[in-house]
Amino acid sequence: MDNSKFYLCSAVLLASSYLSLYGSLRHSHWIIWAIGIVIALGIIYVFYPHSWRYVINYSLIYSSSYSSILFIFLLAERHKLFILLGALSAIFSIYVAIKTLQEVVIKRNEVSDIQYISTGLWSLSLLLFIIFSASSAYSWVKWALAASPITPYIVFEGILIALIPYMLYIPEKILSLYHPDALIAEMLINCPNCGVPLITVQGTCPHCGAKRDFYYCDSGEEHFVKCPYCSGITNANAQKCEHCGEKLEILCKVCGRRATASEYLRTAQ
Ligand SMILES: [Zn+2]
Ligand SMILES: [Zn+2]
Ligand SMILES: [Zn+2]
Repeated sequence: MDNSKFYLCSAVLLASSYLSLYGSLRHSHWIIWAIGIVIALGIIYVFYPHSWRYVINYSLIYSSSYSSILFIFLLAERHKLFILLGALSAIFSIYVAIKTLQEVVIKRNEVSDIQYISTGLWSLSLLLFIIFSASSAYSWVKWALAASPITPYIVFEGILIALIPYMLYIPEKILSLYHPDALIAEMLINCPNCGVPLITVQGTCPHCGAKRDFYYCDSGEEHFVKCPYCSGITNANAQKCEHCGEKLEILCKVCGRRATASEYLRTAQ
């Protein structure tokens, strides 16, 4: 997804989500709420083909932190058991968030040969999402107890909606680079020419000296590299990958600069 497409579908996503928020505030407008939800989910499904299922994670995080606040601040007066339920909901919310974070970071690391995608801001938005879900629930409780106007609730819901396009954009970017073949290639490090197991050797980034694994065939006396694009094992001295035809350039995970496989192997023993 390029930037202009991202801005366009974020704008439509935000407009339909705000429409549904508006609809949710009045009982007579439930049809507006429903239309807004349907458009928003449709946009997510079409334009975030790899990451739409994260909506399920985010919904779980939202609803469990929301219910933890309801249990603790609204229902605990009726029965002490609700405090326990509130604590369990809060733990579940954090658990789903940590699982989501782990999954995205692991996949990010697996595609870092192709493109380095920072997940710092995304992690922050996930944290904010939990905090604002709880804040929104708390404002709703205050309003339901007639202790405060509805405005803070609307503001917090508005912030939550604003976070969604970015929270989907980063996983989408990562997953669209992700090929499950990368995992298979890890197992099959035999020489593509003569079939003997390849020896792992270390190449050096010509810019910063960072080490990186390459593969050497002892009988053919040739170096091989895992193509950063298709993960196929290909001759390191070739200009292009023999499987996918992409130019064999390696992105250094340390300094972020690119070099060819043969530049990396110049100092390899
Ligand atoms: Zn060989
Ligand atoms: Zn390739
Ligand atoms: Zn480097």
